[in-house]
Amino acid sequence: MDAPRFDRSDRENALLERASRIAADHPRPADRPFDADELRRIFRALAPTGYLASTLPGEAGGHGLTSLEFSALWEGLAPELTLLGNHSVQRYLHQFAGAPQQQRFLPPLLAGEAIGAIAMTEPHAGSDLEGMKTLARRVGNAYVVDGEKTWVTHGLAADVIVLLAKTDAGLTRFLVPGDVPGLEREALAPVGLRHLGFAKLTFRHCEIPAELRLGEEGEGLKGAKSAFPIARVLAALQSVRIAQAAIDIARDYALDRVAARTPLAASALVQHGLAQLSARCEAVRLLSLRVASDLQAGDAVARASASKGLAGELALDACRFAEDLLGSSSLHAAHPLVALAGDARMMAVVDGTSVLNHLVAGRRMFSAARGGA
Ligand SMILES: Cc1cc2nc3c(=O)[nH]c(=O)nc-3n(C[C@H](O)[C@H](O)[C@H](O)COP(=O)(O)OP(=O)(O)OC[C@H]3O[C@@H](n4cnc5c(N)ncnc54)[C@H](O)[C@@H]3O)c2cc1C
Repeated sequence: MDAPRFDRSDRENALLERASRIAADHPRPADRPFDADELRRIFRALAPTGYLASTLPGEAGGHGLTSLEFSALWEGLAPELTLLGNHSVQRYLHQFAGAPQQQRFLPPLLAGEAIGAIAMTEPHAGSDLEGMKTLARRVGNAYVVDGEKTWVTHGLAADVIVLLAKTDAGLTRFLVPGDVPGLEREALAPVGLRHLGFAKLTFRHCEIPAELRLGEEGEGLKGAKSAFPIARVLAALQSVRIAQAAIDIARDYALDRVAARTPLAASALVQHGLAQLSARCEAVRLLSLRVASDLQAGDAVARASASKGLAGELALDACRFAEDLLGSSSLHAAHPLVALAGDARMMAVVDGTSVLNHLVAGRRMFSAARGGA
């Protein structure tokens, strides 16, 4: 058995630093999402790191990154380019697509020339995907899709969208080219992560050729469960970076600010609050790295959900603490804490709210106690 590791390897740290530099080289626009060209520039810069292929093996066009290495890239992107995504479509293609679909869609995605998006959530169905209403009716050699998807990351810019819709046989995935007639995109106005073009997508009688069905009818959730741990751990690591950035802002302010003739840094309350938050950052990060080191472990789903739930709450708490400490100083709309706090809210919901993630971990605890998996 390998010796337990409590930090990243030199190679992982090098990847993390590379991603941080790329993030620093591509600052967010002040008041709008990145447009498609700007996104492509970022993805082209990330392509040589292996980011766009996540953990795909070399023969599939990937760089053979381990999940810890891939997570280092994600970690390094935050807090500047939190949740930049654009690798899930590649994973779906690798897992479920036939050769013609892979040949058509994978190369531009892996090169950063095309942008992918995943459309699952609906206005009335988030975590509960079975409750979705988008229908794909088989008509001859095509499917006619009608329905609405929301909160689609990169939905404004996407060249290809993996859509989850209901067929007669149940939930089914489709590859939808971004220029399909009948697809309408509406920009959302999120409270955070404004650099990402979140969209509501409306499908009105969109005709999708049957050869663009991804996998079999009724297999739309195949592989979804095994994708949860990595997605949640990546979100957790980025949330910790948001928390850490808020702590740094609070610490620097406390060093300079004098209140009641005493520097805030000398206040036991401030020291206690910041020390607790810092310790939580380290604890959640270690838990996340532990999950990332073995995504196949029997307890990976429960631990990944726990780390996502904890990290989401931590980022919110750290921003709240910093906001309180800074008083009116952080009330300017352009203050970095405003963006961090908005981002923290978004991160607390993506990949399942904290409540939902703790529920997953709690259910596993009881099923294990009853002798289940
Ligand atoms: C930053 C960001 C990026 C996103 N990107 C995408 C994307 O690219 N594509 C996409 O399709 N979607 C995306 N989403 C949507 C995201 O997947 C959903 O927001 C998420 O799944 C939660 O769904 P919901 O918001 O509808 O809330 P729900 O899951 O419906 O939750 C509503 C409430 O019910 C509670 N709840 C949920 N399930 C249970 C349960 N079983 N028991 C008890 N309580 C429960 C929750 O805790 C919450 O309080 C994104 C969201 C965010 C914030």
